[in-house]
Amino acid sequence: MLDKIKVILVNTTHTGNIGSTARAMKTMGLSQLVLVAPLKEPDGQASALAAGATDVLAQAKIVSTLAEAVADCGLVVGTSARSRTLPWPMLEPRECGEKLMTESEKYPVALVFGTENSGLTNEELQLCHFHVCIPANPEYSSLNLAAAVQTLCYEVRMAHLQEQKRPTEENEYPLSEELERFYTHLEQTLTKTTFIVKQHPGMVMTKLRRLFNRARPESQELNILRGILTSIDKSIKTKD
Ligand code: SAH
Repeated sequence: MLDKIKVILVNTTHTGNIGSTARAMKTMGLSQLVLVAPLKEPDGQASALAAGATDVLAQAKIVSTLAEAVADCGLVVGTSARSRTLPWPMLEPRECGEKLMTESEKYPVALVFGTENSGLTNEELQLCHFHVCIPANPEYSSLNLAAAVQTLCYEVRMAHLQEQKRPTEENEYPLSEELERFYTHLEQTLTKTTFIVKQHPGMVMTKLRRLFNRARPESQELNILRGILTSIDKSIKTKD
């Protein structure tokens, strides 16, 4: 999904910033870099600053207008260090990361960065659905271009990691009654093996309950445990 997220740099002046952007992107797992009419095409300085991300740099597409760069995108977010005269729907960086991640499932999405000196023009900003501003020090809020890319790509990565975690978070945990069946089974098996002596059960089951509740086994894990108990039951039977 991260490869459906384009980072677009408009009219970049310093090739070093292009290289640093490639590096910032790759560290966060992004790879689609688009350069809109850069003042100079990536050179040695860009490669030097890209470091281990020269592959991202080499794959960068160069186009002549922002409209061309975003033509296939369903969501375009423009970045700006300051609020503009024309108010536009705004996103917080965190929301921005989440929105880009979610919508990239449906179509390519873009995060657009302006030129070092003056940022994005009003015309360029109007090609965007939303604007995002990194809430920096109000007395000095203009980040270096690649630093702004790094910050927003980090938010994309956080959203990505969150999404990856979701399936395990939603991972099925057994219901209480299923856990109870497991504890009953465990007690029966441990009684059969004589680990638990029926007349003097002691605290073993309570302590085992505490152990398993602390571990909070997932449904699948509980199935494994039940399987182990069944295999012990069977081996006891064959011995009989
Ligand atoms: N002087 C320009 C800032 C240019 S900095 C201005 O006032 O807009 C170059 C680019 O870095 C910006 O176009 C934007 O893409 C990004 N950037 C810098 N600081 C930012 C911030 N606080 N929030 C969002 N983007 C920022």
